Amino acid sequence: SREQLFQSQKMEAVGHLTGGIAHDFNNLLTAITGSLDLLEAKFRQGRLEGADRFIDAAKEGARRAAALTQRLLAFSRRQALDPKPTDANRLIGSMEELIRRSVGPEIAVEVTLAAGLWTTLVDPPQLENALLNLCINARDAMPGGGRLRIETSNQRLNERAAREQDLAPGPYVVFRVSDTGTGMSPEVIAQAFDPFFTTKPIGKGTGLGLSMIYGFARQSGGQVRISSELGRGTVVCLYLPQHLGDAEAAEPAPVLLKAPRG
Ligand code: ADP
Repeated sequence: SREQLFQSQKMEAVGHLTGGIAHDFNNLLTAITGSLDLLEAKFRQGRLEGADRFIDAAKEGARRAAALTQRLLAFSRRQALDPKPTDANRLIGSMEELIRRSVGPEIAVEVTLAAGLWTTLVDPPQLENALLNLCINARDAMPGGGRLRIETSNQRLNERAAREQDLAPGPYVVFRVSDTGTGMSPEVIAQAFDPFFTTKPIGKGTGLGLSMIYGFARQSGGQVRISSELGRGTVVCLYLPQHLGDAEAAEPAPVLLKAPRG
């Protein structure tokens, strides 16, 4: 649909924007490091006249880098603003065509939506971006084709299960995106959520996808988890808390049975 086309153009624009920022940021870091190297050389020679030039250059580079990250932060905050009670199954249903087109014909897409999926309270475009990003990562991990699965489910996490996921106990809507791609080494998994971490060639990856998804999940009271095996594939689970609407919240609960929410 036109809406989806618009959304995919927006994603492309976001990709260009963040890619541009990453590139500019790297250039500034190179300039800062270069200035500090020259300053260090002067310092070691004990010849400090003219050195303030390099201090000024390093400070100017750092100031500009800070301004760049401000732009990113402003951008991500603006995105975070509008949570609504959301039927994620419907949202995925409306994206399915876009996902299929984004991953191409070599990848089989299987969508399994749980019946009676709980409502979540999220910003719908952010959830769309997160899911599309996960699908594009899956595509990039399967250059020779493969299978992409998208599943939703309701999960009630007890104290122990919640602690394992670093979440509060309670009801969650879970999105499971899995692929049969290259998989990730433990080293890559450990850094995958770091902003600007990418193993993709310049111009292809920005290293911002998973870090933005992580920020989105945490801001929404949820979590994102990766499990992966090299040569077999990757599973990413996104947890978002169930939205307890007016009806459910207003329902009087017997005091003794009320579960503590951590
Ligand atoms: P980008 O996709 O721009 O590189 P991300 O933050 O989305 O940035 O991902 C960071 C890195 O994590 C990727 O460069 C890749 O190495 C790895 N990665 C993410 N998703 C997958 C996946 N489904 N399969 C294999 N590796 C992945």
